[in-house]
Amino acid sequence: MKEDVLRDTTATIHLDYLRDNIQKIKELAGSHVAIMAIVKANGYGHGAVGIAQTLLENHVNYLGVATLSEALELRSSYDDAPIFILGSTPDRLLPYVVNNDITQAIFNMRQGHLLNQYGQELNKRVKVHIKVDTGFHRLGFTPSQESLEEIKTVCSLPWIHAEGIFSHLALVNEAENKIQYDLFCQFVNSLEKTGISFRYKHISDSIATVDYPQYNLNMIRPGALVYGLKGKKAAIPQIRQILTVQTKISQVHKIGKGQGVGYDYLWRAEEDCLVGTLPFGYADGYPRNMRGKGYVTIKGQKAPIIGVICMDQCMVDLSGIPDVKEGDTAIIYGDGTENTMSIEEVANLAETNKNEIVSRISNRIPKIYVRQPE
Ligand SMILES: *Cc1c(COP(=O)(O)O)cnc(C)c1O
Repeated sequence: MKEDVLRDTTATIHLDYLRDNIQKIKELAGSHVAIMAIVKANGYGHGAVGIAQTLLENHVNYLGVATLSEALELRSSYDDAPIFILGSTPDRLLPYVVNNDITQAIFNMRQGHLLNQYGQELNKRVKVHIKVDTGFHRLGFTPSQESLEEIKTVCSLPWIHAEGIFSHLALVNEAENKIQYDLFCQFVNSLEKTGISFRYKHISDSIATVDYPQYNLNMIRPGALVYGLKGKKAAIPQIRQILTVQTKISQVHKIGKGQGVGYDYLWRAEEDCLVGTLPFGYADGYPRNMRGKGYVTIKGQKAPIIGVICMDQCMVDLSGIPDVKEGDTAIIYGDGTENTMSIEEVANLAETNKNEIVSRISNRIPKIYVRQPE
């Protein structure tokens, strides 16, 4: 029996669009470039476990996550998947990394020694990628002679397999990006001159993949692009947003002129009207600051959100929508066509970026995975 969907507010994830996006990214990057698909933050709100199968079927080289907890969640569903932790794992938790065959980013010698020790104890060779700080000042070895010696030491440890080396661009502007890229390449070169080699070298996220293909090296780390979220300049027309979020009207009210809606009556009817209640709110990840700006799409028409957005519900003005009734579908996030609000539009209105909008989609929203366009 199919599992019941326990709510009317749901996210639909189009796995065939996801497959197409991966193919487009591969075409764009070229066949010599490996792909680490970034699925941190529960696959940018799309459900990491739910989308990973499609990514693996389409031969991405790694699933990249931010934290150990995210890595372990994936590992419990995918025994053999190559999983990479981009962020820092606390020393005391490193045995989990080794035991679960996860590849870890490292940025100091201490963790190199610890991983080597746990590798020996657990009889497993530990894969790591060396993180280099080329200016972002988040994580990474500083490119210096001292770091070079430390990295050489780490790479020579018997239970360590230094499979890759990487950095991250701050994306300030073209000149700053080039400085970071050049610094990275110089540092990698000086390591290679000492006889160390790395299978993977990478620096590019989604924006860099599109805007600076010359920085692809032999691996890229797209996140947003995988989900069909294009950057400001990143216009690959063929990639498609794979997510839509919708709900159903739970109640319709007839409101008289002058009556208020919601906390503090911050919206009042200028004339008699119809108000619809929808079962989603800020605890579902919908930005609370969309009050007065947001709308949903019902029967192809925009219904503006009115009054304060509550934790679990909000109200919309149904004026002008013919024959609207309880149970009718309201599209919260669509692809931008047919009067729907795209992720890009909500990000602009909420004054944030697209990644924040989707990564905040809460676990309370059931995900429905479909393979055919509806
Ligand atoms: C999140 C992340 C990415 C992916 O970023 P997008 O902008 O979504 O493509 C790549 N690399 C690192 C280190 C990250 O943390």
